[in-house]
Amino acid sequence: MKRLTLLGATGSIGRRTLEVVSSFPEDFSVVALAARGSDVELVADLVRKYAPDAVALLDRTAVDRLAMLLPRPRPELLGGPDGLVSVARDVDTDIVVSALVGAAGLFPTMAAIERGRTIALANKETLVMAGALMTAAARARRVPLLPVDSEHSAVFQCLEGHDRADVQRILLTASGGPFRDVPRAQLAHVTVEDALRHPTWKMGAKITIDSATLMNKGLEIIEARWLFDFQPAQVQVIVHPQSIVHSMVEYIDGAVIAQLGVTDMGVPILYALTYPSRRPAPGARLDLVRVGTLTFLEPDAEKFPCLGLARAALERGGSAPVVLNAANEVAVAAFLDRRIGFMEIPALIERALEKDGGQDLRSIEDCAAIDGDTRRRVAQWVDARSGGSPR
Ligand code: NAD
Ligand code: MG
Repeated sequence: MKRLTLLGATGSIGRRTLEVVSSFPEDFSVVALAARGSDVELVADLVRKYAPDAVALLDRTAVDRLAMLLPRPRPELLGGPDGLVSVARDVDTDIVVSALVGAAGLFPTMAAIERGRTIALANKETLVMAGALMTAAARARRVPLLPVDSEHSAVFQCLEGHDRADVQRILLTASGGPFRDVPRAQLAHVTVEDALRHPTWKMGAKITIDSATLMNKGLEIIEARWLFDFQPAQVQVIVHPQSIVHSMVEYIDGAVIAQLGVTDMGVPILYALTYPSRRPAPGARLDLVRVGTLTFLEPDAEKFPCLGLARAALERGGSAPVVLNAANEVAVAAFLDRRIGFMEIPALIERALEKDGGQDLRSIEDCAAIDGDTRRRVAQWVDARSGGSPR
């Protein structure tokens, strides 16, 4: 029986992970849950169903409401950022599934690594912010960082049994998002609803917008650089609208190994939880004859500036990826609140990167400080731009 701590239990990845747990009741149990606390009823349902020993919610008032919904004996309830860190670090567990969204995952994920806990990583923003520090901490503690992101799970599987020195490059596939075929001139006028209509994957709102701007792929370039320790230039992106080939690895002799499958996050989640073995999974089978055609295209760097901004931040290093990520988080939230237009997302990120002081990051506290400064700066630009109210 593998014990799981699930950070981000109420999210898209969190709930899919819990479905996997339910499909394999003999294999997995849930010892701790963490979430923001915006849906206390849902958290209470999850507690009744999975009976964890501890629950942490960022929102402390939500902890009080949760306590009222749960009769004793109930799990240990913790609140605030410290509560999240505490469940990630202190609850005895076999694997921590890091599936909070955004920078909120940085301290809990790092605390789990420093405590020597195996990580199944979905929360790519933390690696973007602190890739060097996190991978160094993981190496020092011999902590496996197992990818949950479908592309990185694919690369991970394509690397198994091969010599790293033989890798020429990795090819991350991108669906191209809902605006792949929309002319650039129209992108300034797309709505939140248009951007949330992802063609192949069903995910949380933030990553769905990131997929529409292609920032998701930009973040994934940085994620791949750190997870697999490749040079930035070795990580390339190819658009593949069907999202069947989840990514590929090209070797020095010209052989290209790909991992394919249906678009179901249950597959990479299960692999991260059972690695290095596999389980017979219900459902999801790839029928290539039904799919019929697989196509591949060059990404349009002019239409999707986020891809280039992410690569530039990776190459610059230091504080630049933290600035990139923080500016993106604020800009995406402002777009979702209808305070800025779609093409203002890359514009705000570019402006934030121009202000980047190129600091070195010695600790995750440094990352958090730059993250906070950037958020304040970009929020001010959004306020000035939108007069503080939705458009
Ligand atoms: P989501 O928005 O559906 O869920 C996010 C979870 O984090 C929720 O449990 C929420 O309560 C919690 N949360 C949000 N803000 C928080 C805060 N400030 N403090 C504490 N908790 C907070 O997101 P998701 O789609 O499940 O994505 C989670 C992570 O996984 C992201 O980093 C995303 O990029 C990555 N990812 C998601 C998918 C997918 O299919 N959804 C695929 C690959 C990678
Ligand atoms: Mg992905």
